[in-house]
Amino acid sequence: MLKETYKEAEDRYQDLQIKLKHWSHQYYIENNSEVADAVYDAHLQELIALELAYPDLVEADSITQTVGTGVYKTSFNKTAHAIPMMSLANAFGEQDIRAWEERINRIIGAETPRTYVFELKIDGLSISIDYKNGRLYRAATRGDGRIGEDVTPNIFTIKSLPKDVQGLGDCTVRGEVYLPKAEFIKVNEARANQGLDLYANPRNTASGALRQLDPKITAERNLDLICYGLHLAEDTGAEVSDNSTADSDDNKVLTHWHALKQLEDWGFHVNKDANHLCTSIEEVISLYHEWQEKKDSLDLEIDGAVVKINETHLQKTLGVTSKFPRWAMALKFTAEEAVTKVISVDYEVGRTGIITPVANLEPVLLAGTTVKRATLHNFDQIARLGVGLGDKVSVRKAGEIIPDIVSVIRDDESNLMDSTSADCQISENAMRSQIHKPSKCPVCDSILEQEDVALRCPNIVGCAAQIQRRIEHWVSRNALDISGLGPSIIEQLLEVKLIFNPLDLYRLRYEQLIDLERMADKSVNNLLVAIQASREKAFHRFLHALGIKHVGFNVAQLIASLIPNLSELEHEVLVNNGQELLKLDGLGEKILASLIQFFQSEIYVQIKKDYYELGFNFTEITQRKLSDRFSGMTFVITGTLSESRSYFEKLIKDNGGKTSSSVSKSTSYLLCGDEAGSKLEKANSLGVKVLAEDEFRRMLE
Ligand code: NAD
Repeated sequence: MLKETYKEAEDRYQDLQIKLKHWSHQYYIENNSEVADAVYDAHLQELIALELAYPDLVEADSITQTVGTGVYKTSFNKTAHAIPMMSLANAFGEQDIRAWEERINRIIGAETPRTYVFELKIDGLSISIDYKNGRLYRAATRGDGRIGEDVTPNIFTIKSLPKDVQGLGDCTVRGEVYLPKAEFIKVNEARANQGLDLYANPRNTASGALRQLDPKITAERNLDLICYGLHLAEDTGAEVSDNSTADSDDNKVLTHWHALKQLEDWGFHVNKDANHLCTSIEEVISLYHEWQEKKDSLDLEIDGAVVKINETHLQKTLGVTSKFPRWAMALKFTAEEAVTKVISVDYEVGRTGIITPVANLEPVLLAGTTVKRATLHNFDQIARLGVGLGDKVSVRKAGEIIPDIVSVIRDDESNLMDSTSADCQISENAMRSQIHKPSKCPVCDSILEQEDVALRCPNIVGCAAQIQRRIEHWVSRNALDISGLGPSIIEQLLEVKLIFNPLDLYRLRYEQLIDLERMADKSVNNLLVAIQASREKAFHRFLHALGIKHVGFNVAQLIASLIPNLSELEHEVLVNNGQELLKLDGLGEKILASLIQFFQSEIYVQIKKDYYELGFNFTEITQRKLSDRFSGMTFVITGTLSESRSYFEKLIKDNGGKTSSSVSKSTSYLLCGDEAGSKLEKANSLGVKVLAEDEFRRMLE
């Protein structure tokens, strides 16, 4: 989230750096996780977002710029990695995976054939093992990616690792050292018997075991290793940590998949049941979901999956950043659900009067944040879940800000039945009660109406909550974009009855605003300027600001492209029954019905009166059609041109042409600027005529 002020952002930035560096040190050096990985990841994501929003803040030693942790003083000898051991960028769901593919396409072109290798992300610690003439001679931890700790004697204790391989020659094998779950349980059972503290998780136990100065202790742990990367001595040009391969004919690196096969043939333990060669990103996504479901069935801990571009020449084209290869991505599994209890339910009134039940929960940590509220959507959903107050529930974050309740946990109910304590039953039962369906609006007391599955407050004009939401929408960025008018100021203005609808904002005066909380001379003046400036915005923004059902920003733009004027639009909708509007591509009966309802509503009557009284005249900056020069022609625009893309789109439309976002056989011209990518390739392959900007301008002369 963008911080309010630079100072706030700076403070939070320092706070995050200190926390993350401390947790990293604990994790990598002390083999101790003070917080769950999801908490660490959430803080890191917040830091990344801050660095994007405030690039000035980025420090050279920021945790986002470094791999692992610094090279700390330890008793191990230090050793430099000939090929750096990098980190991996993270994707947290389908959307991120697709975005990664798009980024790749921008570099190599969408049409370039490629395959993907899907692997599991083993939750252990990475190791780089050098072989000379087929013999293991040195093994090192990742350290800071360039310099690691020499743990050769300890690596020798891993039984499954081949130490002398015929035909291997000089190479570096990369993999993950881990402790199988069964071993972890055994170790902890033994510790419990000896009255010792239990280890927290297999990853930290493995790290602790590998980084023992006495290899005999390491040997007791039965560590294992899964290999996922091979670098032949000839291939040191590839700046990658965990990939590349050899072609049997000329000993050249061709694909990662063959490297895995080669490692397997040499006797290395690769995760062959889970590794997949995929021909599309959809296949990768489906494997990602599949493994999210069955990850607990494995005898080792995984913290996600890894996807890698298979072809080495494409990996080289994609290259690396200072921290990650661009051709690989860690696919983190979405946060698991968390269990908590429903304390109470609030009823929130939306902009259109719809009542949403929102559960207040006992605070619980989920995906790195503390969750206190979850939406119950509507009363059908409450009935479907069978949820009541005091119930134990499972909550899940599904991308929205406010999480969902997905199920009610009934296990304590069965325990209750088995319980012999009558007191216990009474007290637990007393805590449970049904979530009642309100009959009146919690804000204005109007009798609620049922509308499909939703409950609605019909007091459109008078309900303070609806008015508040409407005004919040009116001033929002994509609508009339009035900055300095946050929810708390709107609430105050409503409370002191200075405003009743959005147009009242335009009647506000300095002396009315200066007395409000948190308002001073400068903020009042700025606000008054912003309110007046919003009168000059384009008609489509005003139309969007009206909050008509189904008329979002894009539909508003579409309508405004045909009818950029309020009175004409009213006439078209109410008198002409939308005959012209329905001719617009993308505008159907549903939107028209909603427009009719709006123009017949009490809200519109009120807005219309104020609109003319206050002398408004929102209009579009669109012009009449300049010519029919491009009539019947479809243009696709690509690359960097001297003006924005929308400028050229408008020129094309003003001259009777159409634009499209993708090149096909029916494209008339590709208007092509600098650094054009896959669209240019496609146009060439389809024989579509390509126009440079100069040629295009000449067509307009
Ligand atoms: P990463 O997420 O950047 O991933 C890169 C590592 O993945 C590689 O070095 C390799 O060791 C490993 N890996 C496993 N399977 C692989 C495969 N099939 N192919 C390629 N690589 C594979 O790893 P990182 O930089 O070590 O650590 C970041 C993660 O560590 C964080 O996401 C966080 O969850 C965890 N962490 C937790 C804490 C904490 O306090 N809980 C602190 C620091 C880091």
